[in-house]
Amino acid sequence: MGLSAINECINNNYHDTSNEVNEQHIIDMFRISKENQEFEEEAENVINKIIKDFLLSENANSSAELKEVINNFECSRIPNNPINLLDYLKLLNDNVIAHATHVSSPRFIGHMTSSLPYFMKIMGKLLVSLNQNLVKAETSKVFTPYERQSLAMMHRLIYNFPEEFYDKHIQDNNSTLGIITSGGTIANLTALWCARNACLPPEGDFKGVEKEGLYNALLHYNYTGAVIIGPETMHYSFDKAADMLGIGEKNLIRVHVDNNNHIDLAELESTILKCKAQKKLIIAIVGVAGATDSGSIDPINDMADVANSAGIHFHVDAAWGGALIFSEKYKYKLAGLEKADSVTIDGHKQLYLPMGIGMVFFKNNLLAGNIEKNAQYIIRAGSFDLGRRSVEGSRSGTSLYLHTALHVLGLKGYEVLINEGITKAYYMADSIRSRPEFELLSYPETNILVYRFIPEEFRMQVKAGQVSRSENNIIDKYNETLQRTQRKVGKFFNSRTKVKTSLYGRGVQVVAIRSVIANPLTMKADIDAVLEDIIRISKVIVKD
Ligand SMILES: *Cc1c(COP(=O)(O)O)cnc(C)c1O
Repeated sequence: MGLSAINECINNNYHDTSNEVNEQHIIDMFRISKENQEFEEEAENVINKIIKDFLLSENANSSAELKEVINNFECSRIPNNPINLLDYLKLLNDNVIAHATHVSSPRFIGHMTSSLPYFMKIMGKLLVSLNQNLVKAETSKVFTPYERQSLAMMHRLIYNFPEEFYDKHIQDNNSTLGIITSGGTIANLTALWCARNACLPPEGDFKGVEKEGLYNALLHYNYTGAVIIGPETMHYSFDKAADMLGIGEKNLIRVHVDNNNHIDLAELESTILKCKAQKKLIIAIVGVAGATDSGSIDPINDMADVANSAGIHFHVDAAWGGALIFSEKYKYKLAGLEKADSVTIDGHKQLYLPMGIGMVFFKNNLLAGNIEKNAQYIIRAGSFDLGRRSVEGSRSGTSLYLHTALHVLGLKGYEVLINEGITKAYYMADSIRSRPEFELLSYPETNILVYRFIPEEFRMQVKAGQVSRSENNIIDKYNETLQRTQRKVGKFFNSRTKVKTSLYGRGVQVVAIRSVIANPLTMKADIDAVLEDIIRISKVIVKD
C-alpha cells in the first residue's frame, strides 16, 4: 500500500454516498450472535497474528521518519459508510502497527515503557468486555471493594500498619488508603491537591480553599503566597500541578541537588526557613524516589524528618522507584518511605501493568476527604462511590490488572523482576566502566544508567578527570548525534538527557545517553550489543 492509503480510503468512502446504511447491521454490532461470533473469531485471528508479528519483530523502531509517517494522517474527514472491520485492520496493520514503537523489544532500553507479561493481553480483553465504571458503585459494584482491596495491599507494603488498621479501614467508605489514577502525573496532582486543601481548611466564616479559592484562602490565613518545595530533579508533572493548583510554576521551588542527584538537605532547610520568614505557605515538600533522568533516590528518611519537624506535608514521587519495596534485597534504598504523608507509584512502569494506571497512597486515611465532591445524581455523600475523591470521573477498572498481577506474580515474582533489573543495570555499569570508549556518569541507584561516549581525542583528559567546559560541549554534541543516529537506524533504542556529574566540578551538566533496564527479556548479550552498536555508529560518524 502507498503511503497515503488511509487518506485515500477515507476520501473515497467520504464521497461515496450511494449506499444506504444497513440499520440492522449497525444494531447487530452490539449483539452476541452466532454470525457476530464467527466474524469476531475471524477478526481475532487477524489481530492475534498482528500482535504476534509485532511483538516478535526484531527492531525497536521502524526506520521511517516521523515526517513520512505523518503524511498518512492528513485527511480530516469521517468516512460516510461503515468500513468492514477486516479491511480496516489491513489499513491499520500497514499504516499504523508497522510504525508503532516496539517498546517490548529487549533492545528498546531507552524509556520507562516496557513489555508486559503475557496474561495482561487477555486481562485487557476481559476488562474491556466488562466495561465497568469505577466512578460509582452503581456502575461497578464488586469492582469498588475489589479495587479498595488491591490498594490496601499496596498500602500495607508501604506503611505496614497493624492488622487492625487494615481490618477497620480496608472497606470503610470514609477511609481512602489510596486512589487509582491514569498515571503518575494525576497521582502527584491528587496528592498535592489533598495537601493544599488540608492546610487551608474552613475556619469560622471562612469556608476553606476548596470553596473560596486560593487568593481568599491566603488572605484569610495571612500568607503572602504558597509554595511547593522539592529537588531540581522533580518531574515536570509538578509544574503542571503547581499551575493547576493556582500557586504558579514560579512557586514550585527547585532545590539544588548534589553530584549524586540527591537533594541538598541544608539548602532544603534554609529554603523552608526563608519561606516561613516571608510568611509563605509551604503546601508540601516533595522527595523523588527514582528520578526520571538518572533513577537517583533522594534521602527520603532525612527529608521526612525535616518535613515532619517543620509540620509540612511530605510527598514522595516514587512513580519509578516505588516498586523497589517488593525487593527484600533493595527496599533499603526506600528507607523512610513509610514516613511520607503521600506516595505516588506508577503501575504502568515497574509493576508491568498496561499503560493507564498510576496510584497515590495516603498515610492518613482521612486526608483525601479534603478533596471530596458530591453530586446528587451520581456520587452521593457517604456512599461507597470512588469518584467522590478523585480528579477523574468515569474511569475503567484498571485495578483488575493490579489485583491480577499481585496474585499471579505475587511478592516473590515482583521481587525477581526488580532484582533482575538492578542486577543487569549493575552489569551494564561495570561493562561501561571497563570500555575505554565510554564514561559512566554516575553509578546507577536503580536500573537507569547515564553515560556517554568519549571520542578518542578526549580519552586522556577523561582519564585524568580534566575535561574543560569547551571540550565537554564538543562531547555533548557528539553524543547527541550518536543517540539520534541510533534511534534512526531503529535496531536499538537509548534515550538522551542532561545530568549533573560529580566528575568535573560542582554544577557541571553534560549530555548523557540514558538506558533503562526494565525489560525482563533484556539479557546481558543485548546490553553488550547495545554498547557495541554505539561504538559501531561512532565509527560511521567519524567517517562522515
Ligand atoms: C513517569 C513519572 C511521572 C509521571 O507519570 P506518568 O505515568 O507518565 O503520568 C512522575 N514522576 C516520575 C518520577 C516518573 O518517573
